[in-house]
Amino acid sequence: MSSTAERRDALKTVYEQAMGCVRCPQLAATRRTVVFGAGNADADLLFVGEAPGANEDRSGLPFVGQAGTLLDRLLAEIGLARSDVFVANVLKCRPPGNRDPLPAEIANCQDYLLRQLELVRPRLVCTLGNFATKLLRGEPVGITRLHGREEVRVIGDRAVRLYPLFHPAAALYTPANVEVLRADFARIPALLALDPPPPPEPAAAPAPAIPETRIAEPAASAPTQPSPPVAAAPPEAVPEPPSVSGVPAGQLELF
Ligand code: URA
Repeated sequence: MSSTAERRDALKTVYEQAMGCVRCPQLAATRRTVVFGAGNADADLLFVGEAPGANEDRSGLPFVGQAGTLLDRLLAEIGLARSDVFVANVLKCRPPGNRDPLPAEIANCQDYLLRQLELVRPRLVCTLGNFATKLLRGEPVGITRLHGREEVRVIGDRAVRLYPLFHPAAALYTPANVEVLRADFARIPALLALDPPPPPEPAAAPAPAIPETRIAEPAASAPTQPSPPVAAAPPEAVPEPPSVSGVPAGQLELF
């Protein structure tokens, strides 16, 4: 098992790879920055949003607009700050005009998210909204049915508690949903206090080493998960990591 420092270094390497990513030609051409994610690289709690918006694309940091302000407020209400958690997105680049992520973009980007989960090693993963929830559960069930219901899922070679929540931006459109989100947030401290989920039964084949990431087969008791909808781009589509010089100051601030 790798040390905290080794995992942190590996996360920086993934960050550098993501900075030069051109797997999605349209997103690579229209983005200003790649919004890798930020926060505590050893966090017990990791949030997964949808994709950067205009503010995030400008700053290089996730959830810095209105939705981010709500996220900060809800975190503060349960005694947490951004520096206690890690925040990432399904897509690391802003879709033009804030359109929905395309299935091929989600498939192209999912390795980065899975590596983040593998390296940060959170116990509790809060998916914010439909895209993150559907991706990490591998099922099309929507957030309205699932929010506030935690379950143990195997992601990569680890078992985590997955806790779907409404997306803060969507909640802002429907004030009643802010209260639903607040009530769901209020359960986070109790979920963090639970013992970590037991490790999954070893698969027939050895679990992949850190450089490879996959969504594991479901545990025997879990419902069947279909494979992700679109095959990811081949590994050679990821260029050599560029130098990090020129990265906006602050983008790696909390690592
Ligand atoms: N919405 C998201 O899903 N992610 C961000 O980073 C900002 C807004």
